[in-house]
Amino acid sequence: MNLSLIKKHADYTPTTNACKMCTPLGASLVFKGISNAVPLLHGSQGCSTYIRRYIISHFKEPVDIASTNFSEEAAVFGGGVNLNRALDNLLKQYDPDMIGIATTCLSETIGDNVAGFLKSYREKRKDELLPEIIHVSTPSYRGTHMDGFQGAVQAVVQGLSQSVPETVLSHKVNIFPGMVSPADIRHLKDILEAFGITYALLPDYSDRLDGALWSEYQRIQKGGTNVDRIKHMNNAVASIEFGRILEGARSSAGKYLKEQFGVACYSPGLPIGVRETDSFFSALQDISGNPVPYKFRSQRERLIDSFVDGHKYVSGVRAVVYGEEDLVVGIVSLLREIGIIPVLCASGGKSGLMKEIIESMVPEHQSLGIHVKGNVDFMDIEQQVADISPDILIGNSKGYRLSRRIGKPLVRIGFPVHDRIGGGRINHLGYQGAQELFDRIVNTLIEKGQDQSEIGYSYI
Ligand code: SF4
Repeated sequence: MNLSLIKKHADYTPTTNACKMCTPLGASLVFKGISNAVPLLHGSQGCSTYIRRYIISHFKEPVDIASTNFSEEAAVFGGGVNLNRALDNLLKQYDPDMIGIATTCLSETIGDNVAGFLKSYREKRKDELLPEIIHVSTPSYRGTHMDGFQGAVQAVVQGLSQSVPETVLSHKVNIFPGMVSPADIRHLKDILEAFGITYALLPDYSDRLDGALWSEYQRIQKGGTNVDRIKHMNNAVASIEFGRILEGARSSAGKYLKEQFGVACYSPGLPIGVRETDSFFSALQDISGNPVPYKFRSQRERLIDSFVDGHKYVSGVRAVVYGEEDLVVGIVSLLREIGIIPVLCASGGKSGLMKEIIESMVPEHQSLGIHVKGNVDFMDIEQQVADISPDILIGNSKGYRLSRRIGKPLVRIGFPVHDRIGGGRINHLGYQGAQELFDRIVNTLIEKGQDQSEIGYSYI
């Protein structure tokens, strides 16, 4: 018997209440952000149901995610037949411009050759006009929803962005915002328009996952990044992709466009707080040659003024921050600007980069007692919390049980926010997002203080 295997098994700790979500979920969100596109999960039907449930509970919008619906037979002999049938059905029922296929744990485990299946599908229908079909490999046992998200953005760009000549459809900037809220996407578009920059923003689910009331059922919601725009990404002057973790990754959509087509790539952090938003605006100034519009300069001035007003409430407050690695990095940057100590920065992500990035961002991390933990679940977070007595938690709704158990308030950000309304309308980005986050954090602390006070609050 192989003794090293026994040892490995003995060290194994199961995940309890994961601080991450399933990888195809991230890919499905990207496909929902492309105009007239349909996500298709290659694997068991339960995966599609689970992911739909998560997305719907956050965005409160109808979400179709197709499935190749594996049976026992497909699990043993492969899912080629199921994939062909699913593609035929989608063409008939949705008439999409793009089908985005993400593979689930089951199809990844049996090693289905999706690229091979697609090649023969296209050959068989070579006389028909087929939609774009993009495949991204998303084994959930290897990554998180963020890996699925970034993998899908890259797969779409690699699959669609071609060496097409410049036309009226060409734009100046490609922008890859990462997994941000529909409200954040709308704000980014306002910023780009105020700078007079034409852009292709991928993915754009600001309408499809935060839309208006329908008078009639829409099979595919309106909105999303236009497929033809993605094909012109090679003509852009520059790409901007947010995320210090993504910047350290081996590959990304922006890196691909730079290597293949010489499109300059700017990689600021997620623009949360003053410093990171300044870096984003400085990239826009560089690219456009225009100064920061007055509207945003005045937002910045009001934000700094409010930091002074609210400083006495937040100075020295101890916070636990958790969620996607790049979101945690962005929030830590904001917290240090306002005087909060992020005593525990945790994520289920396993890039291995978060600790180094946060420690270089906060040189005094040791004296402040800041702990940075990647690849953790909520059980690990709870064990850490027992020793660090935080005042507040900042993260998604998955931390609610912990917040209730330790009696500390939770400021909900990121995804999923399924125990409140308006998850898709939370602003995180830009000076506007920092203002909203700051006000919410301060008011949460004030409210907690009033709740704990014997006299509550009075004003004469
Ligand atoms: S089996 Fe894998 S892909 Fe399916 S829901 Fe679970 S983690 Fe996600």
